[in-house]
Amino acid sequence: MKAGDKVLIAESCSHHSQDDDIARVKIPKWLNDKVGGGLMIETSAGRDYPENLEEYKLIVHCGACTLNRREMLLRQAVPAEKGIPMTNFGVLISYLHGVFPRALKPFGIE
Ligand code: SF4
Repeated sequence: MKAGDKVLIAESCSHHSQDDDIARVKIPKWLNDKVGGGLMIETSAGRDYPENLEEYKLIVHCGACTLNRREMLLRQAVPAEKGIPMTNFGVLISYLHGVFPRALKPFGIE
C-alpha cells in the first residue's frame, strides 16, 4: 500500500456511527500510520458495494453480524472475482498492532 491508493472500508449495515467510529476514524488512522499517510480511504454501508469497486486496492470488511453465511460468501466472492484483496476489521487490527507473530507462534508459523 502507498499514498494515493484507495481503500474501501465496507460495513454491511447502516448502523448509526459514533464520533470515534472504528471504520471512519480508528482503522483509517492506523492504516495511514502503517503506510506513512496519504491513503484515500472511503467507507460504504449497506448490502451493496460501490459501483467503482475496481478502483480499490484493498477492502476491509466489518464483522458482518447482520449477514448470514450465504450473504457473506457472496460479499467475499465479488472482490475475489475482481482480484481485489479483502480482509476484515479483526484480522487487520491484529496485523497493524503486531499481534500476528505471537498468535501464530503456537502453530510454528513465523
Ligand atoms: S459488524 Fe455488524 S453492526 Fe457492525 S457494521 Fe458490520 S453488520 Fe453492522
